[in-house]
Amino acid sequence: MSEASEKFPVLGVGVNLLDDYADWLSSRLQQKIGTHVVTLNAEMAIEAEENPLLTSIIQQSDLVIPDGSGITFYLWLYGKRQQRCPGIELAESLLQAAGEMGSSHPVFFFGGQPGIAKQAAEIWQQKLPNLAIAGTENGYLSPESEPACLHTLSALQPSIILVGLGAPRQELWIAKHRHLCPQAIWIGVGGSLDIWAGIKTRAPLWLRDLNLEWLYRLYQEPWRWRRMLALPQFALRALTGRWA
Ligand code: UDP
Repeated sequence: MSEASEKFPVLGVGVNLLDDYADWLSSRLQQKIGTHVVTLNAEMAIEAEENPLLTSIIQQSDLVIPDGSGITFYLWLYGKRQQRCPGIELAESLLQAAGEMGSSHPVFFFGGQPGIAKQAAEIWQQKLPNLAIAGTENGYLSPESEPACLHTLSALQPSIILVGLGAPRQELWIAKHRHLCPQAIWIGVGGSLDIWAGIKTRAPLWLRDLNLEWLYRLYQEPWRWRRMLALPQFALRALTGRWA
């Protein structure tokens, strides 16, 4: 299958503009074409401006989706009416697709505090009885125990590897290790494992519809305020860039 599309520039990185990201990705899954998916939001775009390694990883990834409303706002300023594609929802549709494909397409859940990935996997197993779970691992491995996890991944060759280490740690980790499972779909899922495991909740739909999911995250995790200063910075960069 060909590349997703030209990437449209958002600050220093590019985002793919597709009508149906889930459909594109499930076709890659079916054909077992190795894919790195980046779920781009304003915080990551700002961080990439100061981190050339992150920029090059995003540029070399196979699919960059507009995960945050900041990104769709930016695209709108440039005349692109793109629907937002939250990473958690794309990962969920990928799991649904894998569930239909059964044992030929096993999934590995990686990340979060000890027990979280396992709990998330069990919940998905209940929802999708045909889903093949290749394995689970927590995201706080010591440098001594990481090689064993990498060895397991390499031996199991899962079709999907969900990596919930938070951005940009997960993007750097995927870029470093994706050669171990060249036919897999690797996707950074941030805090999605926590949500599936039931220890965090997503913003209610009405807040999401108002593009205020970030406000709910701030309420749930007030320590995020410093990171979130990237949001007004991003909006300012978007506006000044457009009318410069
Ligand atoms: N995490 C991890 N290992 C680490 C640091 C973080 O597994 O060394 C996990 C953390 O437990 C949480 C997720 O990564 O489940 C980060 O979620 P967050 O919502 O901060 O990510 P974001 O969506 O902002 O990228």
